[in-house]
Amino acid sequence: MKIHEHQARDLLASYGLPVPPAEVITDAKDAAAAYERASKEAGTKLVVVKAQVHAGGRGKAGFVKLVNSAAEATEAATFMLSNRMVSNQTGPEGLEVKKLLIAAGVDIAHEYYLAITTDRDTRRNVLIASAEGGVEIEKVAEENPAAILKQPIHPLMGLQPHQARKMAFDLGLKGKQVGQAIKIMTALAKLFVDKDCSLAEINPLVLTPATDEHPQGQLLAIDAKFNFDDNGLVRQKDLQALDDKAEANPAEVRAEEHGLSYIPLDGNIGCLVNGAGLAMATMDTIKHHGGEPANFLDVGGSASEEAVTEAFSIILSDAKVKGILVNIFGGIMDCNTIAQGVVNAATNFKNDDGTTGFKVPLVVRLEGNNVDAGQATLEAASANLPTLQAASDLNDGAKKVVEAVG
Ligand code: GDP
Ligand code: MN
Repeated sequence: MKIHEHQARDLLASYGLPVPPAEVITDAKDAAAAYERASKEAGTKLVVVKAQVHAGGRGKAGFVKLVNSAAEATEAATFMLSNRMVSNQTGPEGLEVKKLLIAAGVDIAHEYYLAITTDRDTRRNVLIASAEGGVEIEKVAEENPAAILKQPIHPLMGLQPHQARKMAFDLGLKGKQVGQAIKIMTALAKLFVDKDCSLAEINPLVLTPATDEHPQGQLLAIDAKFNFDDNGLVRQKDLQALDDKAEANPAEVRAEEHGLSYIPLDGNIGCLVNGAGLAMATMDTIKHHGGEPANFLDVGGSASEEAVTEAFSIILSDAKVKGILVNIFGGIMDCNTIAQGVVNAATNFKNDDGTTGFKVPLVVRLEGNNVDAGQATLEAASANLPTLQAASDLNDGAKKVVEAVG
């Protein structure tokens, strides 16, 4: 599960991390008043207007704007709420922006990157930091990986103070900044574990310029991103309340409601499979034959007519899909029942244009209990369903669907 930046900032603040004050608006008419409040609170004319969407790369896309007056704030808010945001993390169709954050702007002397995530190679959580934080962090990671510093976190002992101190020194921090950085890293490590995070990222963590009050500057978190492990959500009641369904892919929300596990991908062959292992094997076999899967969809143990109908309409809501491969193993359910269900679902399928019946090529591979009767049902049905082809095995099914989509 992902959350918005404004929620992430609240979460950081609740763990004692320093975050500049901000508020959320949904209407550009409220931007001027929000500007005045943020500007007054921070004692500066500088305020930032930031799109609240579940994707990063906003700065480069023009959806993080520094403004110096109420009029500029209104202009930026109007632009963001009436244009889709296309960034390197959204895909070409972009995202609709429904909420904005109006935050007190801060002067920046330096931008750092700070994150915790799970490193699957070492099977540990890892603290990651860089003195080259900011909007180019992906480029830094690619071109100068030595600038990305890491400290593995012991699963029982957690992040040790000496590790945080070493990290602070390696980032080039000095004097009072070191103590501030250690506090921030320690709190982030605690939050990461407490909340079942899979990613907790602050980018940028900024150092403000020296002032009389803060001769060595201040470290502040001005952007944050969290991903939470969905398997932990059941015990994270307060996080459940932060889930903004309006931001999620509607097809994914629908699949979740129906107990289907669905992950959209970039290809054009829809996959409807029972069992995650079989789904992986199906995607591999499609790729082996030169095709590209459009999704991963696991209908789970039951491949009922109802589940198949729902799965078809979720898969076909993706306009990229040019053909579907159904690959089902009949263990508990009989293949003939499954074949009948697939045929009915395809025959009765309601298209967007009001017509009934499948239009895209449909290849069905069944295996298991009573498979001969299932195959016979498919063969018989293909007379009325011209797009239907039965496959003799997975290899044959993958080959047929790749050929059918061209
Ligand atoms: P992202 O592009 O989606 O990661 O959005 P960020 O919140 O990280 O903002 C992108 C960039 O805008 C930051 O790296 C900063 O350089 C700049 N920025 C954001 N907030 C402020 C601010 O309060 N003051 C200044 N001077 N720059 C800011
Ligand atoms: Mn950022």
